[in-house]
Amino acid sequence: MTVGNADLAEEALDKAAEVREEAGLPFGTPVNVYELCEKLSPQVRVRFANYSMEGCYHRSDRPLIEVSALRPLGRRAFNTAHELGHHVLGHPGMRLDEQIGEGKSDPATSPEEFAANAFAGFLLMPKIGVRRAFTARGWKASVARPEEVFAISCHFGVGYLTLVNHLAFSLNEITRERAGALSKVGLPVIRRSLLGGQGSDRLWVADRHYSMPTLDTEVGTTLLLPIGSEPEFDHLRHDADIPLGRVFTPTRPGLIRVEAADGWAVVVRVAKFQYSGWSTNRHLELEDGDDD
Ligand SMILES: [Zn+2]
Repeated sequence: MTVGNADLAEEALDKAAEVREEAGLPFGTPVNVYELCEKLSPQVRVRFANYSMEGCYHRSDRPLIEVSALRPLGRRAFNTAHELGHHVLGHPGMRLDEQIGEGKSDPATSPEEFAANAFAGFLLMPKIGVRRAFTARGWKASVARPEEVFAISCHFGVGYLTLVNHLAFSLNEITRERAGALSKVGLPVIRRSLLGGQGSDRLWVADRHYSMPTLDTEVGTTLLLPIGSEPEFDHLRHDADIPLGRVFTPTRPGLIRVEAADGWAVVVRVAKFQYSGWSTNRHLELEDGDDD
């Protein structure tokens, strides 16, 4: 990293800490970026849009972030944090992001895009939190298997490749060679490995170390939850019990509390698949006559 890039990364790291403080969030824990945007003053509004661009940010008295609803869940969260980076780093004008990439930007071509990505990485995956997430599970980042890195990416609500890049290029927890090897492992292979051969197009894992009180997901995304997990409503269809846990698929939007025997609990918040609209309305149950 050159001195200029190190300065940009340092500023992004400081801003991520400031934003957490303003929102009253401890440093190091996983965060829900949409809730964080609601807590800022002025509130930063987030809207999911049905377009192919990654996202954009409109600076005004009522700041607005739009992100593509067509990207995977983890990518949507990272893109929102990236646009929030443009907001808090004071980048002027309206930002249109055609391509954000998996958390990597070339600082030589765009210092502001590099800084916004660095901010998003430090905000969503703080170093101390990442280390804790691996050690709590008895894993080491430097030698973690793809399935383990995938589970940690779910812990922080981001995509697998986004975490791989962050571990290598921002946190220096893994080598670039290791990042290259992890990047070559396809998500279908990881999903089959975790689910024991039962295929699924989309998967989210929350194990016993998953620490957020909520889990944002959408209709049709397979969930691998701890052994003994019991949902309070039938929005989650029980698909199977496997050695790693219980497999469910959300069938309609809503909020569902899930408890496991030893006190582990989470509120699963299900949105419509590729929901577009205000982030604050994303988990509302469908009214009669709505499309599903
Ligand atoms: Zn940008």
